[in-house]
Amino acid sequence: MTSELLHAKLKENFGFEKFRPNQETIITTVLSGQDTLAIMPTGGGKSICFQLPALVLPGITIVISPLIALMKDQVDSLKTNGIAACYINSSQTSEEQQYYIDNLRSNTFKLVYIAPESLSYLDNAFNELTISLIAIDEAHCISAWGHDFRPAYTNLGYLKNRFPSTPVLALTATADKATRTDITKQLNLKNPKTFVASFDRKNLSLEVRPALDRVKQIIDFVENKPNESGIIYCLSRKTTEELAEKLQKKGITAKAYHAGLDNKLRAKTQDEFINDDCQVVCATIAFGMGIDKSNVRWVIHYNLPKNIEGYYQEIGRAGRDGLPAETVLFESYADVIQLQKFASEGLNSDIQLAKLDRMKQYADALSCRRKILLSYFGELVKENCGNCDICKNPPTFFDGTILAQKALSAITRLQESEPLAVIVDFLRGSKNAYIYEKNYQELKTYGIGADISWYDWNQYLIQLINLGYCEIAFHQHNKILLTPFAKKVLFEGEKVKLTTVIKKVIDKNEIKQEKAKAVKNSLFETLRKLRHAIAQEEDVPAYVIFSDAALRQMEILRPMSDDEFLAVEGVGKAKLEKYGSEFINAIIQFHKNKSVVKKGKKESTYDKTLELFQNGLSIEEIAGQRNLGETTIVSHLAKLYVDGNDFDLSQFVSDEEIVAIEKAQIELENPTALRPYFEHFEEKMSYDKIRFGLAFLERKHQTIQ
Ligand code: ADP
Ligand code: ZN
Repeated sequence: MTSELLHAKLKENFGFEKFRPNQETIITTVLSGQDTLAIMPTGGGKSICFQLPALVLPGITIVISPLIALMKDQVDSLKTNGIAACYINSSQTSEEQQYYIDNLRSNTFKLVYIAPESLSYLDNAFNELTISLIAIDEAHCISAWGHDFRPAYTNLGYLKNRFPSTPVLALTATADKATRTDITKQLNLKNPKTFVASFDRKNLSLEVRPALDRVKQIIDFVENKPNESGIIYCLSRKTTEELAEKLQKKGITAKAYHAGLDNKLRAKTQDEFINDDCQVVCATIAFGMGIDKSNVRWVIHYNLPKNIEGYYQEIGRAGRDGLPAETVLFESYADVIQLQKFASEGLNSDIQLAKLDRMKQYADALSCRRKILLSYFGELVKENCGNCDICKNPPTFFDGTILAQKALSAITRLQESEPLAVIVDFLRGSKNAYIYEKNYQELKTYGIGADISWYDWNQYLIQLINLGYCEIAFHQHNKILLTPFAKKVLFEGEKVKLTTVIKKVIDKNEIKQEKAKAVKNSLFETLRKLRHAIAQEEDVPAYVIFSDAALRQMEILRPMSDDEFLAVEGVGKAKLEKYGSEFINAIIQFHKNKSVVKKGKKESTYDKTLELFQNGLSIEEIAGQRNLGETTIVSHLAKLYVDGNDFDLSQFVSDEEIVAIEKAQIELENPTALRPYFEHFEEKMSYDKIRFGLAFLERKHQTIQ
């Protein structure tokens, strides 16, 4: 099949203009009948790799997927694109299952999604079905090496034996080599062609912040993003609940999600999130696996994740639609210690500790974070990414020896018995009760760092901890202890390099409100609401109707005809037919309303001017009464005249003058500004006359047309 034909299929059925990296080669390979292993990051676009071949191939494509919740979404998604698909899993009654199996026999469906545990339902039908392709999604579940082993997957190897000439396509987002080899072996793939797409997700911005005041930081962050869906990952169930409550108090729709909640409540929260009815989910890692929501606009890690694999998978849930999405990770020392404790007590503790260490190195990085992430997955990148906090604000180093000496000697004076906050208070010479109670104000070095802010001292001390000069004794009330290296700085003249502290700017409230208002009145918001209403009617997630990317394009392109609508990314034939007219109407209506609003606003101020004018007041008097400039009143009257209000213009401009202005208009080739006229008449005709003259001409031309 030629590349042109594949592209035509892509547009017609899925509405996309271009393939994402590796999609086309994977599809071509699958269509040639070859077993294939496709490794692509979350959001890389794995589904198209079997959905498009399914349309081209004569028989049925079986898709094995472990996630029952996801099947419905995928099938809904296919249906909105006009593709016949179904799923079979344990959520259905046996009558329903039988119904779908019968329909498979009569070749009604191109794709069937099935959970591995439910494959046996198909056993009897297998002989009568033409199976053209077997796709195994989340294929890493077959491997005990992977992080998500599913026993039901281990039986899947029989499929290749049962259908030796049917190509098998295994897909996963797990890159590690041991898992890859395991997949090939256990699925009995025959010399599979392997494709590894880049794990780079350029649209995800990367940022790490110190965890100081993180709740406030999070509230600020979310308030700045009205209506944008996001996930906040927390380490403990308790944190998810507390955080959700704090956000709710600020009027944000936020819900907690963790394994301890009952199934119904969890399913409800997930549904609300998917359907854009709940903006924020505060979740333990249990959330996100089973959802395919493409318009998650941001992901926050409230706590440090255990390892980079998990972190990357979690941030990967943002921005699947390819639009910019933000990720923020909060780093705290307390988390590191707690995670170290978990890791050292669990299985494979050495490996887990080493992984945690890599995670911490990432968080403490002073060079492009994306490079570090990608190199972890074996991808070497030369260029800095430009979309991480380090690239945007490269750290600057300075000689921090004196600062370090001050801090370390303060710790000595306090006899290594106080936590970080007290050390900072001591350095800054704070006059609080605790300091006085302990008589710390009497000690030498008290207040030697008064010139540096509280926040900055905090950060410098954390840097000193990271550099290994001191450490936190977590089991002894977090007091700060010196390490043997501190001596070198205090007594042996070792130089210390510190980095300048960059404080994240927090938006002012007014900016937030402005932003919220702009968002509320945008075309995007109008379209989003329409999408939401249709989604509810059809009982599918909103992003299944159109992705955020598609709505953004509609906002920019403002399509008002079928052809224009079809040019929007994500609009294929079926979606044009189903939703085109509703969306086009909404866009046209939005345009109309906008101009009415504009007019309405002007009318009210214009009406006042008109009323006073009709009451016989002069321009000067109206200006005085309305506290506006005379020029403004003149422009009001001119506009009122153009809009069809009748009053005697000759009191402002004579017929001869109008004739002269008309001539000038032709000579000057109809300039938009008044100044060229003014100069043309060598400053002898007033601006007011010119304005009224032009108003007269404009109205005349309108009537002629
Ligand atoms: P994965 O399963 O790899 O996480 P999906 O198959 O769910 O990814 O695709 C992620 C998102 O990208 C979906 O919203 C999908 O519609 C979109 N997508 C896939 N391929 C393309 C493409 N070629 N052009 C634009 N968007 C695409
Ligand atoms: Zn970078």
